[in-house]
Amino acid sequence: MEEIYKWCPSCNKEEIANEKEPKIVYGGSDGFGQPVRFSECECGKVYGWLNIGFYRDKTEINDGFKSYLRQRIKHYSRG
Ligand SMILES: [Zn+2]
Repeated sequence: MEEIYKWCPSCNKEEIANEKEPKIVYGGSDGFGQPVRFSECECGKVYGWLNIGFYRDKTEINDGFKSYLRQRIKHYSRG
């Protein structure tokens, strides 16, 4: 199980889930932190996700941090 932050730039669905890694459609990385990966969203587009277990002991998962994750997802989104 992984702790995953998900956000879909198309339908704006946001979720933190404990689950197996979703099936990846495509991925992106800038070499910093966790890579952003994209999987099929129920809206028909793709949502971006990151494994946030990696950040748990480094930072608080608060609104500011989630906003940062959404920016990274948006940056790599091809939608
Ligand atoms: Zn969606």
